[in-house]
Amino acid sequence: MDMPLPADPRVAAEAARRRSFAIIAHPDAGKTTLTEKLLLKGGAIQLAGQVRAKGNARRTRSDWMKIEQERGISVATSVMTFEKDGVVFNLLDTPGHEDFSEDTYRTLTAVDAAVMVLDAAKGIESQTRKLFEVCRLRDIPIITFVNKMDREGRDPFDLLDEIEKTLALEASPVAWPVGQGADLRGVYDILHPSLRMVDSDEVIPLTGLDDPAIEARVPGDRAATLREQAELAAGACATFDLAKFLEGSLTPVYFGSALRDFGVAHLLEGLARFAPPPRPRPADARIVRPEEPKLSGFVFKIQANMDPQHRDRVAFLRICSGRLEKGMRLRQVRTGRQVPVNAPLFFFAKDRQVAEEAWPGDVVGIATHGGIRIGDTLTEGDALNFQGVPSFAPEHLRRVRLDDPMLAKKLRKALDELADEGVVQLFRPLDGSQPIVGVVGLLQLDVLQSRLRAEYGVPASFEAAPWTTMRWMASEDRGAIERFAAANRMDMAEDHDGEQVAFFTSDWRRRRAEEEFPMIRFLPVREQH
Ligand code: GDP
Repeated sequence: MDMPLPADPRVAAEAARRRSFAIIAHPDAGKTTLTEKLLLKGGAIQLAGQVRAKGNARRTRSDWMKIEQERGISVATSVMTFEKDGVVFNLLDTPGHEDFSEDTYRTLTAVDAAVMVLDAAKGIESQTRKLFEVCRLRDIPIITFVNKMDREGRDPFDLLDEIEKTLALEASPVAWPVGQGADLRGVYDILHPSLRMVDSDEVIPLTGLDDPAIEARVPGDRAATLREQAELAAGACATFDLAKFLEGSLTPVYFGSALRDFGVAHLLEGLARFAPPPRPRPADARIVRPEEPKLSGFVFKIQANMDPQHRDRVAFLRICSGRLEKGMRLRQVRTGRQVPVNAPLFFFAKDRQVAEEAWPGDVVGIATHGGIRIGDTLTEGDALNFQGVPSFAPEHLRRVRLDDPMLAKKLRKALDELADEGVVQLFRPLDGSQPIVGVVGLLQLDVLQSRLRAEYGVPASFEAAPWTTMRWMASEDRGAIERFAAANRMDMAEDHDGEQVAFFTSDWRRRRAEEEFPMIRFLPVREQH
């Protein structure tokens, strides 16, 4: 086992000014609008329409396919980097459609914090809740932004109460709205007594809630309401506590309107001040500290055809420690192979730029011609594997049917590459029959089919497999898995990483297997290495 290396002060300083985060929201809550406004604040090179084009949750299935075909890109996560007041923000975008939730889960393994956007009129919605649960699994600190305060919405107390009750998360208002809907005038900053007014960047310092300067900005009766509500909030709501926020048990709550660009600067200041820089990350061999001098990172996403002119693939590497330098050769721990990093890509919104160097918390793109997989750890030498990039047991299993048997070899290669990318999961039955593909959301199958045809020239279709459920297996007793495999050979396969999996034709059969083989754990989730 390697001993932790001494800290490199330059790496430590660069890591300390990184904030890597994602936005989680139910479709329509305003994630796209907020993203645009954040990028503009950071002066990222960004055309408003660029994000809009990806604002995607409401699209229908045919829209998705059109995007795939026209732009030749996969429906995918992107990374946007921007800098403000010395802080480097890496915003990792997540697809809004729930059929691509695997992508979202994987992306959430690469962030250090999340912004949860709520629609002031709707509060916590189904997708907010699901995404929140994933954050909770990893104790990701969450900042809440109550959006659309310029429209009639629910009472702020009611919203805070809902966060506490439905998410079991302490909600601490750090701002209090002055008015709401057409009446929205601004917010009172509870942590640093001051007023921030709609349509102005000015921050008006106050001595506190009793400062008469409030009246100068807010007409009398509204000032009284603000005082009354803010005092009530101070008494009734959780007080902001940084330690609780960092451990994921408390969320600071901001109020604003992304559309009117109100409250966004306040939120960004909150991210800079409270959201954590990269933290030590567990790997199988040891815990890796960001300030270590040697580079390490893991691939959480692979995207094909980012540029329709060049049919390339880009592996997204989240850097966990050390300094990445152009021209480096990294070791792919899974295979021991060297991966040259000649032109690491940085993502300033729509522009890709070649990075000279990158630091913990950053995400860089590495061009690849295959061979890199989601979950792969790349390092400067240390043989360790980061943990936590999950695979989920697919909800749908299909046999791939090839229209032209002459293309079998091509199909195999195509499926391998697409499985590396995480487009689908791939299983090879132990009995040697046709490969099985598994997906969490059915739209993934459409994407697979269109990419097989467009990129590989392999027309294929899918037919029902006899199985409905699949599980990974783990046991301290190796013999148990062998006995199980011997008895169930027709229902066994290897996954893309060579792990044995069991297929079941019904949940009832799965439960029976669990009873018959109590020494085997049948797992619905697997962490990739
Ligand atoms: P997404 O699906 O979460 O990405 O949501 P969008 O950012 O696309 O926003 C959904 C709709 O809400 C769009 O029509 C936006 O113009 C609108 N919207 C977003 N933010 C606000 C806001 O602060 N106030 C109002 N009134 N509308 C908003």
